[in-house]
Amino acid sequence: MDTSPIRKIIHIDMDAFYASIEQRDRPELRGKPVVVGGSPHSRGVVATCSYEARPFGIHSAMASHEAYKRCPQAVFVRGNMQKYREVSKGIMDIFYEITDLVEPLSLDEAYLDVTENKLGYPSATYVAREIKKRIKEKTGLNASAGVSYNKFLAKIASDYDKPDGLTVVTPEKAPAFIRELPIGDFRGVGKSTKEKFLEMGVHTGSDLLSWSEEDLVRIFHKRGHTFYNNSRGIDEREVNPYRERKSMGRETTLPHNISEYEDMLPIVKDLLQQVLSRLQADRIRVKCVVLKVKFYDFKQITRRTTLDDPTDDQEVLLAALGEQLEHIASLGREVRLLGVTTSDFHGAGDAAGGRGKVYKTTRYEQLRLF
Ligand SMILES: [Mg+2]
Repeated sequence: MDTSPIRKIIHIDMDAFYASIEQRDRPELRGKPVVVGGSPHSRGVVATCSYEARPFGIHSAMASHEAYKRCPQAVFVRGNMQKYREVSKGIMDIFYEITDLVEPLSLDEAYLDVTENKLGYPSATYVAREIKKRIKEKTGLNASAGVSYNKFLAKIASDYDKPDGLTVVTPEKAPAFIRELPIGDFRGVGKSTKEKFLEMGVHTGSDLLSWSEEDLVRIFHKRGHTFYNNSRGIDEREVNPYRERKSMGRETTLPHNISEYEDMLPIVKDLLQQVLSRLQADRIRVKCVVLKVKFYDFKQITRRTTLDDPTDDQEVLLAALGEQLEHIASLGREVRLLGVTTSDFHGAGDAAGGRGKVYKTTRYEQLRLF
């Protein structure tokens, strides 16, 4: 008998994130159609647009010149990723005040598993309300929240009543909610899949329910299982805060070009130390170290050394890099960038994310690092 409690999942999605930040910081933009990303005549695409721009048919990923055609009076803003990233960090920090089970999907969107949460609230709806309130207080921005017992439904719910929405889909309400769902709103249904479904006469979740799993798999292969399960309110995916890291490296563009071994070695050593301090903190050893070199003419080469045994010994790794570096220096070419990358990780245990050969870091951290 399965005695695990029903999970409580929240999906948070900021409303028109970049555009809302611009309207917050530039009062003259408030109440106006604002398009962030690209300029009217560039080849760029729309990153986000304000809610005032949406009645004109403007949406994310549309070509900027198309957006201009539809709404010439829109204000086009280039966008400031540095600022958006900082606001995002503030929001992600709020999530971690609630739970450690945070899976960010992008700068403005995340799943949270609040089955157990640091507020001690049994009601996920209260938790969602509290998150929205904290985001509003801290950033002045609106978020929409979807609350349900799995990721599939929580994500659809957050989109259900935008902006500033809070939609709850309980297990009791789920069957009716899914039956009425347009087929295009199902997970994994893009433009061509939607057309296929419409050809099959499937317009809503209700229509989808009449198809057997066998037929769906025959038509859609692996995704057929997902469609079959989702239409029955089933989605077992867990909120996963971690992501496997395949490599860890640092590189630096030099203030001026150099070509001598003696000048390059201290820089390589410094890069190696930066990488190692992080790996040692996570008790990770490596078997592979790569030297990356970009020459004055932007031609680039990498030189890989695979060691017999995993190590986190600086001397051993520096000896391998030094050998590569000697070869590079013998070419006598001017170098403009040096980099050190390690891979083939071996975890010392499960203390800090190391699981055998799988080195995990949080998705949150990867977002902040990109
Ligand atoms: Mg959003």
